[in-house]
Amino acid sequence: MSTAAAYAVSSPEGPFEKVAVERRELGPHDVLIDVKYAGICHSDIHTARDEWGGTRYPCVPGHEIAGIVAAVGSEVVRHRVGDRVGVGCMVDSCGKCAPCLAGEEQYCVPGATMTYNSPVPETAQAGGYTLGGYSTQVVVTEGFVVSIPEGIGLDVAAPLLCAGVTLFSPLRHWNAGPGKKVAIIGMGGLGHIGVKIAAAMGAEVTVLSQSLSKQEDGKKFGAAHYYATGDRQTFKDLRGRFDLILNTVSADLPIDSYLKLLALDGTLVILGLPEKPLEAKPFTLAGYRRSLAGSMIGGVAQTQAMLDFCAEHGIGAEIEVISADRIDEAYDRVIASDVRYRFVIDAATM
Ligand code: NAP
Ligand code: ZN
Ligand code: ZN
Repeated sequence: MSTAAAYAVSSPEGPFEKVAVERRELGPHDVLIDVKYAGICHSDIHTARDEWGGTRYPCVPGHEIAGIVAAVGSEVVRHRVGDRVGVGCMVDSCGKCAPCLAGEEQYCVPGATMTYNSPVPETAQAGGYTLGGYSTQVVVTEGFVVSIPEGIGLDVAAPLLCAGVTLFSPLRHWNAGPGKKVAIIGMGGLGHIGVKIAAAMGAEVTVLSQSLSKQEDGKKFGAAHYYATGDRQTFKDLRGRFDLILNTVSADLPIDSYLKLLALDGTLVILGLPEKPLEAKPFTLAGYRRSLAGSMIGGVAQTQAMLDFCAEHGIGAEIEVISADRIDEAYDRVIASDVRYRFVIDAATM
């Protein structure tokens, strides 16, 4: 066992406080990572504030981890000491079910072990659960550690580990590319990376944001069009327009209005995860043979493919690096949509 510094909340009200956490002794396939940067995903906020229910306290969030390998177990082959590596939302899965065998570990039938707030199978009976990347070190089995290519800074790579793959995966699954009209709802942490990736894939990208305040940035990230959803005219002008719409909004949306923006056979994919059910009208779906779908992060191999794609296309997240004592403030600013476009914690400040 080793001890690492971490930032934890002990109740939904916070605040974050510095704590010491135990990291397990290295097993033969384990990798010890010195965390350099940890992104702040809106899912961290949903969890820390117990908006989804079931948060175990103390809670150390963080599933956008970029760092350097500090030590490896005796049988590790994929990574060496000194390698630049990343860890996303999962740290293990059963490895035997159909989704795991297909490389879609995020859909593991018994359930993947998530990077934080997830029961650890071996220690679950004793109340063991995972503690995430707002920490100076993590220990992760090698199969869930990906390589961060040279050419992407660790700071701008960190958010790719969740936000990047969460957008890359549905863009690939629904064949975004030349000739496809793709809309992205919400230009926050997920959305802004989605704009960059979809544009790099060759799709015609439209941003649907609450206002036009970030329009210039959106165009710079590769969007061809930018509309304000606060303007009712938008929904008239764009009716029947898109092949694919990715909804990254963390709050409740009148989803039926957005479904009407899909073309024949178009698909609207839910990525944002507020708690309440959605209201879609059967007529809206049936009318144009539209689909309403969802997508959860991406598998380990796809996470690596996404990082390689981003390196090739010079894509990183737009970030604001903060010290660990500013996490509470950062959370409030994310909720107020006051972030350009991802907060990243500098682990050296822990
Ligand atoms: P974020 O940085 O807060 O971005 C969300 C964006 O949604 C905001 O920037 C804002 O964009 C828009 N928005 C916020 N409140 C709104 C409201 N009341 N009405 C309309 N639009 C609103 O959050 P994020 O980190 O990108 O995460 C977004 C959501 O995805 C969260 O619910 C998170 O839990 C979820 N998530 C899901 C997965 C998955 O695998 N499916 C993975 C990661 C995260 P504009 O200012 O442009 O309008
Ligand atoms: Zn996330
Ligand atoms: Zn499985």
